[in-house]
Amino acid sequence: MEKKQPIGIIGAMGVEVRALIDQMEESGQDRFAGLVFHWGSLAGVPCVIAQCGEGKVNAAVCAQTMILKYAPRLVINVGVAGGVGVSIGGLVVASACVQHDFDATPMGYPLGNLFLYWDEGEPEERVELPADGAAAAVLLEEAQSIYGGACSGVIATGDQFVADKEKNRWLGETFGAKAVEMEGGSIAQVCYMNRVPFAVLRAISDNANDESPADFPAFTQECADKTARLLTRALGRL
Ligand code: SAH
Repeated sequence: MEKKQPIGIIGAMGVEVRALIDQMEESGQDRFAGLVFHWGSLAGVPCVIAQCGEGKVNAAVCAQTMILKYAPRLVINVGVAGGVGVSIGGLVVASACVQHDFDATPMGYPLGNLFLYWDEGEPEERVELPADGAAAAVLLEEAQSIYGGACSGVIATGDQFVADKEKNRWLGETFGAKAVEMEGGSIAQVCYMNRVPFAVLRAISDNANDESPADFPAFTQECADKTARLLTRALGRL
């Protein structure tokens, strides 16, 4: 892929992208659908960065707009997530994403089974959408060198803040998830449909249990800073 094409970076909340935008040598901004797209260069690499807002629809609007307007060669979703067997402060790099709330099970489909239409044909059916292996490997290596490691695994996405230990356990059992959040699987689907490679990097802000309403605000800033620093370091190799 042509290296002149930018890397797209999406975070749901301001805290997840602010440090990246502040460090960027910004060449310009555009506004679409109420979202602001900052473009320029970060760590010497052409990038476009946007805050999408929480949840799957916000994330999808942002990712599709970014792809159509800027033709990114890779889209990376950064931010925080609830841990599924990974402790607060830990890092998770997606091997694949799933949408845990996509449910056509009464019709006999597995939970999370997506329907992806190509050229008006019969849909491709998929639960997991695979992240770009090369980008994930770079993020894991950088995490190893700066923070002593990161976990690679499935990230589960849904329009739900998970703060329940039973649901947490279920996410691990059902999808093999290591983290739960509200955007990655949606960005993954948009990228998959457009044949654009994607990566998801999350730091664990809470344990997706009954302590999450207190832990999330306490740890989000620190965790978001961690992913921003790692991503800035990794960009030159992506
Ligand atoms: N901005 C609001 C709402 C945050 S929703 C606030 O600060 O109160 C939680 C955000 O962090 C989402 O973007 C989601 O991707 C991520 N997240 C962190 N912990 C999560 C959890 N336990 N369950 C789901 N999403 C979580």
